[in-house]
Amino acid sequence: MKDLSTIKEDLPFQSPVEPVELAVDTEIQFHCHKGIQCFNTCCKNIDITLTPYDILRLKRRLDMSSSEFVAKFTIPFAMDHHNLPGLKLATKPGATECIFLHEEGCSIYEDRPAACRYYALGSMGVRRKGESAIEDIYFIVREEHCLGHFEQRRLTVGEYREEQGCAEYDENNQGWRDIILKKRSSGPTVGTPSQRSLQLFDMCSYDLDSFREFIQTEGFEQVFELTEEEKERLLDDDRELLQFAFRFLKQVLFGEKTITMKSGAKEARLERRNLRHEREDPASIA
Ligand code: SF4
Ligand code: SF4
Repeated sequence: MKDLSTIKEDLPFQSPVEPVELAVDTEIQFHCHKGIQCFNTCCKNIDITLTPYDILRLKRRLDMSSSEFVAKFTIPFAMDHHNLPGLKLATKPGATECIFLHEEGCSIYEDRPAACRYYALGSMGVRRKGESAIEDIYFIVREEHCLGHFEQRRLTVGEYREEQGCAEYDENNQGWRDIILKKRSSGPTVGTPSQRSLQLFDMCSYDLDSFREFIQTEGFEQVFELTEEEKERLLDDDRELLQFAFRFLKQVLFGEKTITMKSGAKEARLERRNLRHEREDPASIA
C-alpha cells in the first residue's frame, strides 16, 4: 500500500501512481469489499506515513499515551533533507505486513490511518503558481495485486472520500499539511530549522500528551498569553489542542504571530538566555 507521502516526491519511472489529476467530482471505478479475492493483500506490504490525527485516533483507541503509541507502533524517518521528523506505521517483526493486520482483517479498522482510507487513491495539497490557497488534488494508485479496480462500481472521488471518512482526517490535519507544504515551497528563505525547532515539531506533531504538559509549564506561561478559559478548553479537548499545536509550530518555524505573546516576554526571554550564556561562557556576550 503506497500512501500520499510517496506521491509528493518525484514519481519513480515505474510508479503505481497514475499521473492524472482527479478532482472531487471525477468519477472512478473502484470497489473494495470483504469478499474480494485480494482482501488484505494491500496490508501485507506497507509504506504508510502517519499524520498527527492518525496518532491521536489510534492512541485513544488503544488507550495509551501518544509517546507509548509512537514507541510501540511507529518507525521514525526523515521527511526532508533538514531531518524533519516523520513516522511510518510499523510492520510485524521481520515482515512487511502491517502490525495491525489480523486474520480477519484490519484490527483497528474504525480508526485506520488516512492513507488506508484513501487507498487506492492518493491525495496531495498543491499551491498553484500565483495563488495563495492550497488545492487538494487526487490520483489513482494502481497496484497489480489490487482487484478493486475491476469491480463494476462507479462513484466520484468525493463520494469515495465520504464513504471512507476522509474529510474528518483532512480537516484535523489541514494545519499540519499547510506547515509541511510551506516549508517545502519556501526553500532557503525559511532557513535550516534549529535542533530545538525539530524537537518541537516532533512533539507538536506526534506527542500531544507531552505538548499538553508543555503548555502548562512555567516557561510557556511566562511567554504566551492564554486566558484560563482558553487553557481549559485546550486541556479538555485533544482536537483543539492539536490545532493549537499547529499554530504554535507556525510561530516556531516561520515566525508567524499565531499566538499572542505577553508584553516584554521576548525581551525577558532574551535576557534569561544571555544570563545563561554568560554563566556558561562569560565572554560570549561581550
Ligand atoms: S492499519 Fe489496517 S487498513 Fe491500514 S495497512 Fe494496517 S491493517 Fe491495513
Ligand atoms: S481491493 Fe485493493 S484495497 Fe481492497 S483489499 Fe484488495 S488490494 Fe486491498
